[in-house]
Amino acid sequence: MNEFMKNLHKEFVRLGRERNQITYKLLSLLPKINELKIYEKEGYANIYDYAAKIAGLSSGVVEKALKLEGKLQDMPHLQKAIETHGINKVGIVAGLATKENEKELAEKVIHMSKPALQEYSKEARGKVTTGWQVELDQEMMFIFLKLKKKLGKNLSNKECLRKILDEMQERSGSQGRSQTAGKKPNPQRQAQEVAKIPGEKITRYISVHQKRKLSEQCSHQNCHRPAEVIHHPDRFSQNRNHKNLKPLCKQHHEFAHNGISEPMQPADYQYRKYRQVVLV
Ligand SMILES: [Zn+2]
Ligand SMILES: [Zn+2]
Repeated sequence: MNEFMKNLHKEFVRLGRERNQITYKLLSLLPKINELKIYEKEGYANIYDYAAKIAGLSSGVVEKALKLEGKLQDMPHLQKAIETHGINKVGIVAGLATKENEKELAEKVIHMSKPALQEYSKEARGKVTTGWQVELDQEMMFIFLKLKKKLGKNLSNKECLRKILDEMQERSGSQGRSQTAGKKPNPQRQAQEVAKIPGEKITRYISVHQKRKLSEQCSHQNCHRPAEVIHHPDRFSQNRNHKNLKPLCKQHHEFAHNGISEPMQPADYQYRKYRQVVLV
């Protein structure tokens, strides 16, 4: 991308974030407006009509905001988090919330990304995925059966798929652990991330020798994602060594720095400040 394109994108992102902030505030006002029936006094048929005509909010979003408010009675921190971080992120943890833990959950909403929150909520509800069922469409079935015929000899579908995956894995060789996450790696972005996490480095900055000793899989219990970050449980900035390294996926790396899988350490408060810049 050239400079012009980059700036155009930047401007779009900036305005998008601004608009999101306004939407969060609008949604946080709706429950009270609904309760006091202000829409009626202003001549609107209902709260949905009111929100759509004045602020262009869809009925789905309005419904979600009202429902969420209902669930969060007497939970001031999570209600406040709706205003600053939106109904979607708060909605992810709303099912786990009690009066006792709501303050802590609001902290997580503020400091963690959406995918990490989703993972957190799943684990807290004991819904960790240990297996996948993937549906094949007709074209995929045909290709699969063709390959199966080649691989041959009374293989079950599962065994056949395992062979295909093994072969693909072999072919792609050791093209780097941090590049297996589905998305195309963006070295620039990775470099930025290094700067955002004080004292932590991404795989390629650690010696090849050390890297080889580490697993390619995230080391969090029951996680099957490829590791994307080499995490220092001793917090490199406090304890300058490369011992005890832990490969983690991005989500579980957030766990480690948000007091979920490891206790909060001084460096983590610093880390949160950096994270805030990228989390909206
Ligand atoms: Zn880390
Ligand atoms: Zn993980």
